Amino acid sequence: MNDNNKIITDFFNSISVTEIGFAKVDNELPYAISIVIPLSKYVLSKVDTMPTFEYFHHYRTVNAFIDNALLRCAFEIEKRGYNYLCVGASQSTSEYKGYFSHKQAARLAGLGYIGKSALFISEKYGPAIRLGTILTDMPFEVGSPIDKDCGECTICRDLCPAMAIRGVNYKEGMERSEIFDAAACSNHMKKAYQHIGRGSVCGICISKCPKFR
Ligand code: SF4
Ligand code: SF4
Repeated sequence: MNDNNKIITDFFNSISVTEIGFAKVDNELPYAISIVIPLSKYVLSKVDTMPTFEYFHHYRTVNAFIDNALLRCAFEIEKRGYNYLCVGASQSTSEYKGYFSHKQAARLAGLGYIGKSALFISEKYGPAIRLGTILTDMPFEVGSPIDKDCGECTICRDLCPAMAIRGVNYKEGMERSEIFDAAACSNHMKKAYQHIGRGSVCGICISKCPKFR
């Protein structure tokens, strides 16, 4: 770990963020700092066949925490003369995609892998997590991807009410659409669960995954 890794790690640790990784990415700001925030096991354990109000609220609260944590860290980066761009915790531009993939940054940093559900499976916390990313020109020692996938498991594919999960193991370089139909997931949630909250998330593919622990 070099001095910059330590500065950022210590800062995040001081605000209760303990899973942090560093990656080199193809961007004008070529380093990504990735953070993994665990979701409440209790809240997710109540998601059985449909989302809950409690999960919806928790999801949004954790997103707000991530945005706040990233910005506070970014102030430390700028103070040291470097540029930063905080990637929004739940950003979406078009085609159900954000302007930068948190999952790819976290994968390159070696914090976990991408499951058949297209969720990021954290080595430490499994799929019940949210991710945050800062892009910067502050240089770091970087991690490397881990070689793991879902193997033969198809639980999330079989249980997804939107039939959005194709059941294919992610391989480096694949488009998300090759493993997951984001429109099907989003449309199903809008149709079935709008009463729970705008942009509500279902959560079945998290709560039923054997890596949920
Ligand atoms: S959130 Fe629900 S609808 Fe969307 S992929 Fe997961 S299980 Fe399917
Ligand atoms: S339920 Fe099984 S296939 Fe789906 S993400 Fe979890 S381990 Fe992978």
